[in-house]
Amino acid sequence: MRVQLAAANWKMNLNLNEAIELAQILVKETGSLKEHQQVLMAVPFPYLMEIKKITDQHPHFHVAGQNLASTPNGAYTGEVSAEILQSIGIKYVLIGHSERREYFAESHELLKMKVDRALMHQINPVFCCGEPLSVREANQQNEWVAKQLRDSLFHLSPDQMHGFIIAYEPIWAIGTGKTASSDQAQEMHQFIRQTLTNQYGSNIADSVSILYGGSVKANNAVELFSKSDVDGGLVGGASLIANEFSAIIGSLKS
Ligand code: PEP
Repeated sequence: MRVQLAAANWKMNLNLNEAIELAQILVKETGSLKEHQQVLMAVPFPYLMEIKKITDQHPHFHVAGQNLASTPNGAYTGEVSAEILQSIGIKYVLIGHSERREYFAESHELLKMKVDRALMHQINPVFCCGEPLSVREANQQNEWVAKQLRDSLFHLSPDQMHGFIIAYEPIWAIGTGKTASSDQAQEMHQFIRQTLTNQYGSNIADSVSILYGGSVKANNAVELFSKSDVDGGLVGGASLIANEFSAIIGSLKS
């Protein structure tokens, strides 16, 4: 089976003590996972090393950055490069979250550079895509998402795309409590996989994990994750609550 992932996005939340406590509970309470099941925790930069010590205690847990610089090391005050993340053992990073696209004006071209920087340093991107409400209402979501993939990812080689991680996050469902129905999620995930098939062939497309994000909770994760092209979730709000995220991990396809 393709890799199935429960990915937490803590965003800019929790103080250090709260962060440590949450990570410890999750690692302690999650029993053994199947080979194909993985858990990511995307945490604020200052917590990466501390939380990594905790996630290192479980073979299927990994800590992730929430962002990285589009350039190599240099005079870029406040930025964090792929080199720096690699030097502390980080293997995953979120790229292109809608909040970064919107509030920090991250363009398709910039995200392409970030994807390249991550891969150059053996860091797996979790590439986020998804449409705003106005685009969904105009029924243009497929074109919108296809362009996001094309402009930031389709320069990658088949080898680089093998086992890649994409998170489909309709913006109208992020932090709103309004989840896409499992059928809406499956429809878009199938479209993404077909788009990957057209570009890279079905072997590569079938190896890509496509996560759904947008108000995933303990009470809707089983239904969403049961869909054939939904390979787990990227979770914001519910990932800050230990028993909610624990149940979401437990909802991954077995
Ligand atoms: C997110 O931030 O990626 C997200 C999906 O948030 P939430 O689960 O709170 O909607």
